[in-house]
Amino acid sequence: MERLQKVLANAGVASRRHCEELILQGKVQVNGQVVKELGTKVDPDTDKIKVNGKLIHMERKIYVLLHKPTGYITSVSDPRGRPVVVDLLRGIKERVYPVGRLDYDTSGLLLLTNDGELAHMLAHPSYEMDKVYRAWVKGVPSREKISQLASGVKLEDGMTAPGQARLLKAAPANDRALLELVIHEGRNRQVRRMCEAIGHPVIKLERTQVGFLTLEGLEPGQYRPLTTAEIERLR
Ligand code: URA
Repeated sequence: MERLQKVLANAGVASRRHCEELILQGKVQVNGQVVKELGTKVDPDTDKIKVNGKLIHMERKIYVLLHKPTGYITSVSDPRGRPVVVDLLRGIKERVYPVGRLDYDTSGLLLLTNDGELAHMLAHPSYEMDKVYRAWVKGVPSREKISQLASGVKLEDGMTAPGQARLLKAAPANDRALLELVIHEGRNRQVRRMCEAIGHPVIKLERTQVGFLTLEGLEPGQYRPLTTAEIERLR
């Protein structure tokens, strides 16, 4: 059960403040009864709520943190019939959309929601959320190459913004190395193109963190809802 004004505001009727006024003015009905009490608790899933005589449409807001496996398209459908990430969300009947995208071949942390406002905010570059990637690359990059990744790499769509890059593991015998990159932008195939640009193409790529959110406790293909505290912190 939730407070009526909160339910109205979440449904996009108006701001919380304005919803309170609508209630006080007697313009809100719950199951056919006018309700003027601000603290009234309602069940957004079952109660019929009308504002100015019009039934309001309430969709439960869903926030999912998915550990995307490789071999899935970050989309809600694929014209070529390949598996899409929403196929992994069993038991969620609301239509949710991915926030940003991970390549078909990339695994890792992906958020999905039907909260358009939050999705828009998170995807905007000005929000500057840290995105942490672990990339196995071909060869072992020199210190100079790694600092180049951090300070900015020239790509065909311009220089990348400064971020962080460090060597986590060098495996010269296998001709590969594991790098960690922190970037704020979200250009198409950005990490792959950055590594390619310094001469060390990506073999395997995973996104391990977005802002304060991590993959802790989630195997590839598993997901969990965000907690209320996490949702608040993202806003
Ligand atoms: N950078 C990439 O190259 N691929 C991704 O999926 C995400 C970031």
